[in-house]
Amino acid sequence: MILPKSTRLTTEQLNEVTAIVTEFGCKIQPIVGAVRSIYAIVGDERDELMINRLEGLAYIDRIDRIQSPFKLMDKRSDLASHRIKLGGVTLGEELFVIAGVCTIDPKNPNFFYESAAAIKEAGAHMLRGGVWKPRTNPYSFQGDVKSLDILMEGSRRTGLPVDTEVMEEAHIKLALDAGVTALQVGARNALNYSLLRAIGRAIAERDTAVLLKRGIHMGPINEFISAAEYIAAFGNPNVILCPRGTAPTLDGYRNHPDESITPLLKEKTWAPVVVDPSHSVGKASYVPACALAAVAYGADGLCIESHVSPSHGIGDDPKQALTPDVLADTIAQAKQLWAIRRGVKVA
Ligand code: PEP
Ligand code: MN
Repeated sequence: MILPKSTRLTTEQLNEVTAIVTEFGCKIQPIVGAVRSIYAIVGDERDELMINRLEGLAYIDRIDRIQSPFKLMDKRSDLASHRIKLGGVTLGEELFVIAGVCTIDPKNPNFFYESAAAIKEAGAHMLRGGVWKPRTNPYSFQGDVKSLDILMEGSRRTGLPVDTEVMEEAHIKLALDAGVTALQVGARNALNYSLLRAIGRAIAERDTAVLLKRGIHMGPINEFISAAEYIAAFGNPNVILCPRGTAPTLDGYRNHPDESITPLLKEKTWAPVVVDPSHSVGKASYVPACALAAVAYGADGLCIESHVSPSHGIGDDPKQALTPDVLADTIAQAKQLWAIRRGVKVA
């Protein structure tokens, strides 16, 4: 829909606008109002270049798009009934929980194995463990490929599928060859379109899932869903959206908590939303409340950092990992809240 700056387009302006949309196979239907006229674009209005050319005209105020820019991830697309199944849970039908350490310590694998067993006991459906780590400080531990074996051993011991972050193309192949079930795209890479494309290509013929974190500086909801569309465009639409907080605006929280965007995402996309409260608030004592808030907002699941002995952890664990007993309580409460939201009677 084209909204001109003045009350209506002049004949010359209407001719110019019509010439542009005709190039893209569309037509203009004027809607004449008593005070103001607006102009509907009839046809496929998704071509970015057509919109840019119209928006570039000095006499155009704005273009409101009726059609969604997402062919696959849109709630009204043919994939709307697609369901992602992981760790025995069909997302959307039951609360789904990923939990595990921030960073696997390759020198002390038992911490991971013990954490994995306790996390399974606490009720998680998928195990997470960082092998390669995106660190703000270049001198901090950057991860170690040896941890991939530890991750997979943790998976074998518990029977839980695993999720790990990949930061470059080589990681994707290593992780898939090892048997990782979900590839994580971190908040620093959510707008790295070449990585998103590489992931899309690599998983096109598999049923691997992707946990796509929200970028630290992401604003518009559409930017987040478009990143998912990049991956899905290659043929595998198993993309889970993971709000994890954006650039901090509050003293005290690591990031600006963003679980409240869940209903906005759900209005536009069928993709499941799994919120990461750990990186959002960044402190273990705040994580359970943030997790419950996410479920109250309608999240399909949670991704929580947990460690049997957080102070012995490396990476984020000493400050934000929940001990498995707190994780178990949080999962139990989150399940109750899930049931309340679904209108199910809780005993
Ligand atoms: C992580 O999951 O440990 C991590 C680094 O997350 P994010 O990309 O959200 O910062
Ligand atoms: Mn972390």
